[in-house]
Formats: sequence, structure tokens, C-alpha cells
Amino acid sequence: MAETAQAAVVFGVLNETSEHESRVALTPDIVTRLRKAGVSCLIERGAGAAAGYMDEDYAKTGAEVLPADEVVARADALGFVDRPDADLIAKVKKGTWIIGMLGSFTDTDYVASLEQAGLVGVGIEKLPRQLSSAQSMDEMTSQNSVMGYKAVLVAANAYGSFFPMMTTAAGTIRPAKVLVLGAGIAGLQAIGTAKRLGAVVTAYDVRPAAQGEVESLGAKFLDLGLDFSKGQGEGGYARQLTAEEQAAQQAAVDEKAAGFDVIITTAKVPGRKPPVLLTKAGVDGLKRGAVIVDCAASELGGNVEGSAVGTQVTDGGVTIIGAPYLASEVANTASNLLSRNVADVLAHFVHDGRLSMNLDEELDDALVVAGRTN
Ligand code: NAD
Repeated sequence: MAETAQAAVVFGVLNETSEHESRVALTPDIVTRLRKAGVSCLIERGAGAAAGYMDEDYAKTGAEVLPADEVVARADALGFVDRPDADLIAKVKKGTWIIGMLGSFTDTDYVASLEQAGLVGVGIEKLPRQLSSAQSMDEMTSQNSVMGYKAVLVAANAYGSFFPMMTTAAGTIRPAKVLVLGAGIAGLQAIGTAKRLGAVVTAYDVRPAAQGEVESLGAKFLDLGLDFSKGQGEGGYARQLTAEEQAAQQAAVDEKAAGFDVIITTAKVPGRKPPVLLTKAGVDGLKRGAVIVDCAASELGGNVEGSAVGTQVTDGGVTIIGAPYLASEVANTASNLLSRNVADVLAHFVHDGRLSMNLDEELDDALVVAGRTN
């Protein structure tokens, strides 16, 4: 698309304020891309610094670098890694589009607060990921992939031995046995990364389709001896297991986990509390020195009973790292991928020099969670 002389839609990005967040929702090369699509970009001073993008980098590609208040006052749309808090919502002018991970599956009060403020909420968590037109907007895929990679590095760092087999003059060291629970985007990336570090990798997922994907990466699929052949729900995602199924799964995982040195958990069910896969009994059954990285850890709980955001060491010497924020620790690349996703969501709604939702009914209906414009 040819660059427009006078960009009509103004897109603004601010510093992310939440703890652990180093990413930014706009990177300099994406400014160039957006300008070509008829969007001009405003960025708060210093917003990209934690991810390695400096104000002058943005200015060089044609973004205006401004104080936050000016960005908020002038933007037609604001993009976020996460979502704006109540204080910021109160400052945003009516009719502004808010694009980010709005948490609309679980937080209806938040969506109502956007409606009340007269804002249009575009919740990327609602993206229909199976649509081919939506692939480049898929922030869950891009960020989970980064998270799965980093989870292995964090685990390797916390683990007191090698991941690969090592033959030394003083003897041979066996490779680490790594178990990956949840073999979606993050889990598959974790499997590949752990394999590249030389670990012996086993993985498990409730979706039957995952077995072939796990094996194609050279990992072993963990057989729990349970039949979850109906473990796949709508759109190829996992469904929530019944209480009985979950108890049976936990008992089997607890027993099988005992032989592993490192466990990485990434299991989620869209819009639900993450399932507990490993109970306290399972953690207590692990060897001293074992390391768990729970990527699903959150305020709602994680995949490991009792895990919380941060690091804890059990009385039995097991390190549990609750780490939902790992994509933020690869902030430069993660921001670039995320920024492309957010920009493509925005560009989807730019039509005849303004923001509107009349291009693709399926995508628009899914994404616009508050303040529908037509
Ligand atoms: P996710 O982050 O929601 O969940 C991670 C994994 O946890 C999933 O593989 C899920 O099956 C698994 N899980 C959930 N409950 C579990 C349980 N009780 N026990 C074990 N595992 C459990 O999902 P994701 O990684 O974002 O994506 C999941 C799948 O969706 C992908 O593997 C892919 O096949 C599909 N997907 C398709 C598209 C597309 O069609 N374009 C895009 C993205 C993802």
C-alpha cells in the first residue's frame, strides 16, 4: 500500500505500568508499516526503553515521541501489551479504541468499565485463531512461543546439573529428564528448546492431536493410561475436564512425575482457571533439586498446586518458579512480534481513513468486546 500524505488514524502507545512488564506494544519498524497503512503513530517518551527501543529510533521512523497526556489526548486508538487500568481509562476521551489483552473471558466488570467510559474495546484474547486472516494478529501464539523458549532457559539456570549428557575425565553425567505438561504453542517450543539443550524430553497434553506433534519434535509422549479421547473441545482447544477426570489425571501425573528432574507446565483452557496438573503430593514426590517452571501461574492459580508468581523452594528441596511473565524477559523480540500482532489488529479496523468495524463480520464480532460502533 502506498504511503498516505496525511495519515487519518492516530495510534498511540504508552509505557506499560504492570510489574514484570518490559515489553512495549509498538516497535520502530512497525511504525513504518503502520504509516504505510495510513496510520500515524504517537509514543510516550521512554516507552520502548526497557525493551531496547529508544525514543530516537521511533523518531527516525516517523513516530512522534510525546508525554503520556498528549498521546492520550490525541490518539484515536491506544495499543497495549496488557490493558489500561481504571485511572487511565478515566483520562481517555470517549470513542477511543483500546486494543490489548483485555481479559474479557473472565473479567466482565472490566469490559463494563470500558463500555461505561464510552470506549471501544478490542480484546485480542478473543481472536478466532483458526481463521487464516487472523494468523498475523495472533499475540497468544507469538508470546507463548517466546514464553516456552524462555521457560526452558529459566529451568536450566535453576537446575543444579547439566541438561545434556556430558562425558568428562571425571565421569559421565546423564542428561536431565524434562517433562513438559501442556503441549500447545508454549509447550512445543519448550520441547524443542529442551531438546536442543540435550535433555531427554517427555510431554503430555489432553488433546489427542498433541501426541503426533510431540513425537514429531523427537520427544516421548507420556502415556497416563487414561482415555481422554474427547479431551479436545471447540476450535481444536482443550476442554475443561470433569472433576472426576481431573482427579484421575492428577493422580496419574503425580505418580509419573516422580522420575523427572525438570517439569515445565503450560496448560490452559481458554477463559477458565488453569487446570491443576500436579498436586502437592506430586511435588513432594519429586527428587531434591528438581525444578518446576509453572508458566500458567496467575492470581487464579496455576498448573501446580500452591504455585505463585515468583520462586519458592519446598521443604523437600524442589524449586517452583511461577512465571507467567517470561515473554517479557525476552522483551526486544517479544515486543517486535507483539507489536506486529497489535498493528495488524489495528490495520484491520482502518477503513477509508477511519476506524470502523464493517470489514469482516466474524473477526469483528469476536474482537470487539465493548462499545460496538455499528
Ligand atoms: P493454550 O495456551 O490455551 O493451552 C496450552 C495447552 O494446554 C494446550 O495444548 C491444551 O490442550 C493444554 N491443556 C489444557 N488442559 C490440559 C490438561 N488438563 N492436561 C494437559 N494439557 C492441557 O493453547 P495454545 O498453546 O495457545 O493453543 C492450543 C492449540 O490450539 C495449539 O496446539 C494449536 O493446535 C491450536 N491453535 C491453532 C491455531 C490456528 O488454527 N491458527 C492457532 C493457535 C493455536
